Amino acid sequence: MQFTDLKTQYAALKGSIDARIQRVLDHGQYIMGPEVQELETALAALTGSKHCVTVASGTEALLIALMAIDLKLGDEVITTPFTFAATAEMIVLAGGKPVFVDIEADTCNIDASLIEAAVTARTKAIMPVSLYGQVADMDEINAIAARHGLAVIEDAAQSFGAVYRGRRSCALSTFGATSFFPSKPLGCYGDGGALFTDDARLAQAARQIRVHGQSARYTHTRLGVGGRMDTLQCAVVLGKLGRFEWELERRAAIGARYDELLAGVPGVGRVAVRPDRNSVYAQYTVLVDNRAAVQAALQAAGIPTAVHYPIPLHHQPAYAACGGADDCPASVRAGERVLSLPMSADLGAADQERVVQALAAALHAPGPEAAP
Ligand SMILES: *Cc1c(COP(=O)(O)O)cnc(C)c1O
Repeated sequence: MQFTDLKTQYAALKGSIDARIQRVLDHGQYIMGPEVQELETALAALTGSKHCVTVASGTEALLIALMAIDLKLGDEVITTPFTFAATAEMIVLAGGKPVFVDIEADTCNIDASLIEAAVTARTKAIMPVSLYGQVADMDEINAIAARHGLAVIEDAAQSFGAVYRGRRSCALSTFGATSFFPSKPLGCYGDGGALFTDDARLAQAARQIRVHGQSARYTHTRLGVGGRMDTLQCAVVLGKLGRFEWELERRAAIGARYDELLAGVPGVGRVAVRPDRNSVYAQYTVLVDNRAAVQAALQAAGIPTAVHYPIPLHHQPAYAACGGADDCPASVRAGERVLSLPMSADLGAADQERVVQALAAALHAPGPEAAP
């Protein structure tokens, strides 16, 4: 069993992906070829955003968004410590200071009710993360941002395709930033990412930053980066789009099936999904005590798992000097207990049952700590 099954997906999509790749090899426009614009148009429509700007990765998308809103040295960006490092890393790299606000213990997303107390005169933006594929309380976050004149950048690396109150992730705030890393809900075969915005001025800024700040060839109007997404990677994503909505339905069904199967297993907490939104389950994550033993038992049973993420960023050496109101106890606690199970659109029912049976056995086997 694989943690993320990309092989079955490729077997199903081989015709369209191979044809898309061959077309790029034939026309030879490897940088900014026609597939780049074609993908941007398709993804803008899919999310309901006015503008889509493809970029080199999800990490680059975050950096370019922060540069586009003119983040200045020492500006503060409120974010969650319970995320992949890139979120806070790009804030620091852009000259800003991450200010960490704790998460909700049940959804593992940033606790919007704690954000306003962290706003200062230096705050420039809020960067919520749509963790595991579920959008945070975006309307509440946007309302706080509006009161204080802040930008909101959604780190939507895990939530492409997710729905929040009838609208789609990436189209909910100043910028949405997503990733096409191979194992994300919509992946390419290398690195890729995209920014989404309804603001034409910010979209233009992002397009310029993506190519070294050029407003015309060799006219460097602003500071930029080398941040383009390859034509070939855009072709791969285009080759996957035909089945993407079906994959989202499969992910929802597999997530619901996990919920159902796990409801009968004592000792397993599930990450809550709010009724006004869904999760695209970039990860299907449970909460268990004694995680190391459970993970080892699952590994012995041939079930791959992963931990997203063991140590929140405010406890990482690189971010020790960052701000925050408190020690973010819910983030620390989640870091000790989260465990992600195999998930992909092609995960079969028998395999899924095997995962749950192995998890139940691992939880109820007397582990070393339960021994007298
Ligand atoms: C994957 C991920 C990123 C980084 O995306 P890359 O495409 O790998 O650079 C950023 N934030 C979160 C929350 C992620 O999961």
